[in-house]
Amino acid sequence: MKNISVIGAGTMGNGIAHVFAQHGYSVSLIDVSEDALKKAQQVIEKNLGRQVEKKIITEEIKKQALAYLSITTTLKEGVSNADLIIEAATENESLKLKIFKEMDDASKPNAILATNTSSISITKIASVTKNPEKVIGMHFMNPVPVMKLVEVIRGYNTSDSVTSTIMDISRKLGKTPVEVNDYPGFIANRILMPMINEAVYSLHESVAGVEEIDTVMKLGMAHPMGPLQLADFIGLDVCLSILQVLHQGFGNPKYAPCPLLVNMVLAGHKGVKTGSGFYQYKAGSKDLVVAARFRK
Ligand code: NAD
Repeated sequence: MKNISVIGAGTMGNGIAHVFAQHGYSVSLIDVSEDALKKAQQVIEKNLGRQVEKKIITEEIKKQALAYLSITTTLKEGVSNADLIIEAATENESLKLKIFKEMDDASKPNAILATNTSSISITKIASVTKNPEKVIGMHFMNPVPVMKLVEVIRGYNTSDSVTSTIMDISRKLGKTPVEVNDYPGFIANRILMPMINEAVYSLHESVAGVEEIDTVMKLGMAHPMGPLQLADFIGLDVCLSILQVLHQGFGNPKYAPCPLLVNMVLAGHKGVKTGSGFYQYKAGSKDLVVAARFRK
């Protein structure tokens, strides 16, 4: 396995392309947006530079990684030579089904088709391809060059050999893969999102304020970040949509999103990306200003 294609050059796509290029794979990064591709190249160069400064990699590896990376807006051209294609486009089911049909038609017959989706069923995505045995979830965490985990999700039809190839390649990237089956939220979001939802309910029911809830979880449970701040970082709209997937997928009211979360998304307070969520942020930055909005 030598040639990798990554579809989607946003937050996750550029991180995935970075990590593969850093480890000597030839990477074709594909996006519908020229701007996204140019920005991704700049981000990758900057992040590789940061790794050189921290002595994680050498200047030589940085140069090689940049040489291994190519960009294109044409999916067909970008995937035609790939042994492994990882889709990391916008989280939208109909978009992903369309991309999978296209990549299935344009790729080599033995290419593995992976998706970085946080919540969409791998089995459903695989159902639009000719050979669902070679479709798998490869769920990297943000930021990809730093975070060790890859959740490897087996769809209903994913083969053993495809699963073990993806487990092996994840290890070659210096990651720790964990194999899970394809049920709503997989493992990471099935456990994380109800915790975030419960933190929002605690706020909604005036059990405590924003900072108090986050402090309990940081100091009491040794979490590096409180659940409400983490929700702001992930995006409250993303948290809401994953909770809706869990709620619909299991049909269990315990996953129903807290009405406060729904209201905040409707009101445009989506966290860091909009400058306000449970906390307020300096424009265009992750620097926290104040948690005053919901203090009781
Ligand atoms: P993003 O919005 O930063 O980037 C998505 C990119 O996809 C954009 O550059 C967009 O132009 C591109 N795109 C849209 N349609 C396309 C198409 N037809 N062909 C090619 N490119 C297309 O999104 P992101 O945060 O990088 O998320 C990507 C995927 O990774 C989603 O499935 C998301 O659920 C998953 N994910 C995100 C995170 C996270 O923390 N952001 C973590 C794990 C998994």
